[in-house]
Amino acid sequence: REVAEAYNAAVAGATTLNAYTVTTPDDALAAADAADAGQSNGPLAGIPLGIKDLFATKGVDTTAGSHILKGFKPTYESTVTANLRKAGAGMLGKLNMDEFAMGSSNETSTYGPVISPWRRQGSNVGLTPGGSSGGSAAAVAARIAPGVTGTDTGGSIRQPAAFTGISGIKPTYGRCSRWGVVSFASSLDQAGPMARDVRDCAIMLEAMAGFDPKDTTSLDLPVPQWEAGLSSDLKGKRVGIPREYRIDGVPAEINALWDQGIAWLKDAGAEIVEISLPHTKYALPTYYIIAPAEASSNLARFDGVRYGLRAEGGESLADMYSRTRAEGFGAEVKRRIMIGTYVLSAGFYDAYFTKAQRVRALIKRDFVQAFEQCDVILTPTAPSAAFGIGETTDPLAMYLNDVFAVPASLAGLPAMSVPGGLDAQGLPLGLHLIGPELDEQIVLNAGLAIE
Ligand code: GLN
Repeated sequence: REVAEAYNAAVAGATTLNAYTVTTPDDALAAADAADAGQSNGPLAGIPLGIKDLFATKGVDTTAGSHILKGFKPTYESTVTANLRKAGAGMLGKLNMDEFAMGSSNETSTYGPVISPWRRQGSNVGLTPGGSSGGSAAAVAARIAPGVTGTDTGGSIRQPAAFTGISGIKPTYGRCSRWGVVSFASSLDQAGPMARDVRDCAIMLEAMAGFDPKDTTSLDLPVPQWEAGLSSDLKGKRVGIPREYRIDGVPAEINALWDQGIAWLKDAGAEIVEISLPHTKYALPTYYIIAPAEASSNLARFDGVRYGLRAEGGESLADMYSRTRAEGFGAEVKRRIMIGTYVLSAGFYDAYFTKAQRVRALIKRDFVQAFEQCDVILTPTAPSAAFGIGETTDPLAMYLNDVFAVPASLAGLPAMSVPGGLDAQGLPLGLHLIGPELDEQIVLNAGLAIE
């Protein structure tokens, strides 16, 4: 109870970060009391967690950061949060995020931006915590949650983890059930934990993962004992360094950090090998066709009839639909719906969507071939440190921030960001580890060796 009370007080005292959209202090206390009374002995007994607002939580507002879902209280609980509850965890509240998880800075949220607890040395400019899991990252970094859930479609766990100096892992696609997670791009969406260190991520991921018949893409496999398997000894392991990730225009500091990461993994006993992922340069455009295509289809369900907002004054059913969607969705979500509708339209489907699916297959094959030569891949997480709120206004510049994160998403592979160090302005930079399908363990272990 003491722990839950301390976190509830910390949450209540840090509202200027805008990390939480709703707080649920009684939920955190109830889980703590159950643990104190010996009623729960799971691995997370009594631990209060923050939950990204993309996860359906029974009776508690679930808005995906969107005006269109304001006031929506699900009558059901997502499988991932139900699993965390079974492990004994309580909930501190729901965490702010980019609208429908579309963004890399948490600036597209209907609740306004999250403000990172970090500052550039000698400056008081408010920085973004990254996105879309920006509230999640800021909460862990500011110590107003010991661990949180995030989701990652094209980097949304890893990039905010890097921007805020914390750890976060996206498991293999299918490890965590998508049931009760508001859909963005269903073939890419994966839940995962964000926490202070690798061990906490391993503990949380074990609780979150597992087969769920309610999600048709859920993997019917036992959950490995990742925490018990943690070891920073990488003797006999080969770490792949993909030459195509040496991109022009990436700051020297990011490349220097990458070299430092290579040296740390060598010290841990690993052998370093250069590898090639030849289709890397197509990953970003491929992602920004597939993700909006799936989003435009998924978001068709928000029509003013079944969930959340219904616009007033419609003169017909179709008019009510379009007014609701015009009022309810923000600019970035509308942009994605338009791109997605365009690439799926009859005249352009083959030129864009089918082509993107084919390139996705090539990107996957690149990784399969690379993992014949190495056990884990090391890259930087993002091509920059955190930027200022309002500083990146061009959507394309924003999309470029995902350049290192999206290939692993397209391939469905486990990938993690761990803190690597600070840049010259004192801001955190992340190192990124990508593993073969189902090998979260090597990703966690290499992360541990860096941490
Ligand atoms: N920044 C990427 C996007 O806007 C990734 C988002 C995510 O992983 N949810 O699509």
